[in-house]
Amino acid sequence: MDNPLLEMTGLPPFSRIRPEHVETAVDQVLAECRAGIAALTASSELPTWESFVEPLEELDDRLTRIWSPVGHLNAVMNSDELRQAYNACLPKLTAYGTEVGQNRVLFEGYRAVAAEEHLDGAQRKLLENALRDFHLSGVDLPEDKKARFKEISQELSPLTSKYEENLLDATNAWSKVLTQEQALAGLPESAKALARQTAEQRGETGWVLTLDFPSYLPVMTYADDRELRREVYEAYSTRASDQGPHAGQWDNTEVMERILALRHELAELLGFGSYAERSLATKMARTPDEVMHFLNDLAERSVSQARRELAELTAFARDKHQLGELAPWDIAYYSEKLREHRYSITQEELRPYFPLPRVLGGMFSVVERLFDLRIQEVEGVDAWHPDVRFFEIRDVAGELRGQFYLDPFARAKKRGGAWMDTCTNRLHTARCDQIPVAYLVCNFGPPVGDKPSLLAHDEVETLFHEFGHGLHHMLTKVDYPAVAGISGVPWDAVELPSQFLENWCWERAPLDLISGHVDTGEPMPEASYERMRAAKNFQSAMQMVRQLEFAIFDFRLHREYDPKRGGRIYEILGEVRDQVAVIKPPPFNRFAHGFSHIFAGGYAAGYYSYKWAEVLSADAFSLFEERGVFDPAAGRSFRENILEKGGSAEAMDLYIAFRGREPTVDALLRQTGIAA
Ligand SMILES: [Zn+2]
Repeated sequence: MDNPLLEMTGLPPFSRIRPEHVETAVDQVLAECRAGIAALTASSELPTWESFVEPLEELDDRLTRIWSPVGHLNAVMNSDELRQAYNACLPKLTAYGTEVGQNRVLFEGYRAVAAEEHLDGAQRKLLENALRDFHLSGVDLPEDKKARFKEISQELSPLTSKYEENLLDATNAWSKVLTQEQALAGLPESAKALARQTAEQRGETGWVLTLDFPSYLPVMTYADDRELRREVYEAYSTRASDQGPHAGQWDNTEVMERILALRHELAELLGFGSYAERSLATKMARTPDEVMHFLNDLAERSVSQARRELAELTAFARDKHQLGELAPWDIAYYSEKLREHRYSITQEELRPYFPLPRVLGGMFSVVERLFDLRIQEVEGVDAWHPDVRFFEIRDVAGELRGQFYLDPFARAKKRGGAWMDTCTNRLHTARCDQIPVAYLVCNFGPPVGDKPSLLAHDEVETLFHEFGHGLHHMLTKVDYPAVAGISGVPWDAVELPSQFLENWCWERAPLDLISGHVDTGEPMPEASYERMRAAKNFQSAMQMVRQLEFAIFDFRLHREYDPKRGGRIYEILGEVRDQVAVIKPPPFNRFAHGFSHIFAGGYAAGYYSYKWAEVLSADAFSLFEERGVFDPAAGRSFRENILEKGGSAEAMDLYIAFRGREPTVDALLRQTGIAA
């Protein structure tokens, strides 16, 4: 069969890829990879960079070349046939990944190459990461420990699924039917429509509220009926626990204890003192002390302002709404009232100033100026949908650095949200010379009639965010995919370029480049701009301490675990709340039972990463605050030290090379209006 997925040069032939091509291509390339690895590991010659690592990088790249377009199409042009083909390949790819991670001979090969003397920094970092990952998968453990490692891994994986299932079942088990529209007073039309649609789908009359976020959040933010808010809050905050309307059913208590015990044992097997240490083995933060110091420092500097913000809210609820005492189910509701009262600004009001063509052209101008680049559209490139556009990035010398697809609009069969993903990696060896290509995917409202798509300001921010990731991927000068672009960049550092670039859609000069009224071209009025800026930092300290509560809880939970004492989950959470929380939840609250980021997702002892990355991006931007938002030297330094280097060196070393020092929390506190 003529299979377009197996054409290994140029851009993927999207319009010719069919579901029936997927599995045969994956099978064939996996077979090639296995044969390639077998040949490399069977060789009697001493492995070298050129004879061993480069061929492995090339094999890996073949897999990326076929799997990237498949995964991408599954996300943006979903169909039953494609989904089936995609799902059929997942276990094959996972099995291959495990096989490679457990391959002792491969591990020895990397170790032999690491002893070579004439390697550059990127090559050393790649080898260091590879050896670290082999170690973390238990490949170098003695046989008895290796067996135990495997047992633990096999027990952990269904446990984390069980946690997620309990949470999902508990979430789905609760709903509330309302027969009088009056009971929904305060809710926006979109939330009412959702409640009505849910009722119809379930064969009920009236409106149905659920604990799914799109239903839960509007109730907590807008429902005038306080008792309704209390009831929904209680149901939500006791999911999968021993409390609330479904107490004891789907209870995660034992699952959480077991997960913590196994993670601790796993970490000890690998030679770490705690799971927190194990987590940091792949991150930018160096030690548990550093993380705790970082979080505690932010907490100390934010708590008093958070208390002030809560006092303002309490006074507002008392004076304007005659509320005696704020309960946890009142916070979001009165906060929204206070926000409207103070800033009276809506996303809708600003939309006419952000027509997509203007925003896109403006964003390119900003980036061209900042990083000395030229961005141009290329017509006639084969794509998966007529809305898709294709661009290339060149440096001032005219050298082609990267290319990207932009798929801007929401449509049926396309996954929601916005993201940047890898199409191809930069790869430069004796046999290959490949430049990086990215997908930039958004879900903006499509143009209506002859009017262009109009963006809300937070959608503009999203576009900048994803383009920041895109630049990290496309501007890389590293030759080996494993440490080029965003590959090999630690989790707590990978959001630096994306959050960093968001700053340019909040500053007046760049804002004038990306905005202009759709009918008149007029710039955004100064008064609207001022209100938009002011509203940005509304209750920023309350939000800060809430995130710190989660981050400190997660980190202490994994760091202080002691097999003799068990998880002490709510004991530790109570201590953390005494330290940082300004809102004390009621005794029935079972937050941890639904904290799937750390129990089921990949954020165990890593939730701090959100704040860490914010501090980095704020501190990075502060250089531009000092020197001007278009300062050429600062822009060049960010491009050369961060964007071009990718994962080829320690993230902290790269940051210091850019900023001249380690990051501090000052800029974040100042930019969010917290610093005194
Ligand atoms: Zn991101």
